[in-house]
Amino acid sequence: MTALWDYPDFDEHEGVHVFRDPAAGLTAIIAIHSTALGPAAGGTRFWHYADGDQAVTDALRLSRGMSFKNAMAGLPMGGGKGVVLADAARTKTPELLAAFGRAIESLGGRYVTAEDVGMSDADMVAIRGETRHVAGLPVGQGAAGGDPGPLTAIGVYLGVAAAVRRGLKRESVAGVHVAIQGVGSVGGGLARRLAAEGARLTLADADRPRAEALAAELGATVVDKDEILRVEADVVSPCALGAILDADAIAALAAPIVAGGANNQLATPADGARLHARGILYAPDYVINAGGIINVGLEYLGHGDRAEVLDRIGQIPGRLDQIWDESAATGDSAALVADRIAMRLIGRG
Ligand code: NAD
Repeated sequence: MTALWDYPDFDEHEGVHVFRDPAAGLTAIIAIHSTALGPAAGGTRFWHYADGDQAVTDALRLSRGMSFKNAMAGLPMGGGKGVVLADAARTKTPELLAAFGRAIESLGGRYVTAEDVGMSDADMVAIRGETRHVAGLPVGQGAAGGDPGPLTAIGVYLGVAAAVRRGLKRESVAGVHVAIQGVGSVGGGLARRLAAEGARLTLADADRPRAEALAAELGATVVDKDEILRVEADVVSPCALGAILDADAIAALAAPIVAGGANNQLATPADGARLHARGILYAPDYVINAGGIINVGLEYLGHGDRAEVLDRIGQIPGRLDQIWDESAATGDSAALVADRIAMRLIGRG
């Protein structure tokens, strides 16, 4: 049996809390990585794990990622993550959500939740019945908050444009060929913006009809999901799964830029160095995909409106440039530079 602090992903987390409520069918973990900058914010994942170790590992890894993402987004928030262990049938009841809301409440505001994989805005409304430490609730027009996907897509679009300026020395994405892996909330929003600016698109999705429908609308090309990372494009934009950039995938990349919205794109820390060694310009995922957390973060903090959310998202390209400048100056990979800046910001540098 492994002690919690001996898990490879344990990184001096401030707290890792386990909640059980058998009557409500709840087993959940809330990992608080850092509250140095403010309450630990990060969505809750509702997922059926093969075993408890995987759930703990996910909570440890994702909460640390949120510390970095929130710090780099300039939010006065720390990093945390909720993981609710779903049964095989993924049964989600009002009792389970209420029990999870009480678990969050018991932490007294040290952890703030929002949607992640398997959780909807309706679930956030249910959790809100037990605690106010929740964001991602439906909001009125012009207000900060609500569905983070479209805001994430805006930030990713701006980041792709910044990478094109940097890597291709082109001021516009018009005529630039972008291959997008996954055309859901983030990838689909990105595709629409790029198409509106005259980019040439190749799309792939595990749900092929979804990619085909969007391609028909935007005049794009569709390839099989197993081919998208190897397309000879100017930019490859991962907007589906994590851990897709491993040694083999990086060796097969045919694009000079990787810039997309998926979380945890690098399979291992060594893969950031692999991209760098191949001369591929990489936009660190938690920097480019921060639009959604900026949106729900300001919603929770109760200051700012949609205009401020957009203003803060507009700072993503500048942060990427700072990282790429330091990478060029030091010879370190963009991924390593981003981690180093984030660690400094949370007082662990
Ligand atoms: P989504 O579920 O709306 O879309 C994901 C799409 O990827 C789906 O269409 C799915 O069919 C497709 N897909 C799954 N596996 C695939 C594969 N192997 N190849 C090609 N396509 C595949 O999810 P989303 O909200 O768009 O999130 C996409 C990614 O962005 C995730 O990694 C998520 O963690 C990350 N992200 C999302 C947000 C947000 O605000 N929604 C914020 C930050 C990061």
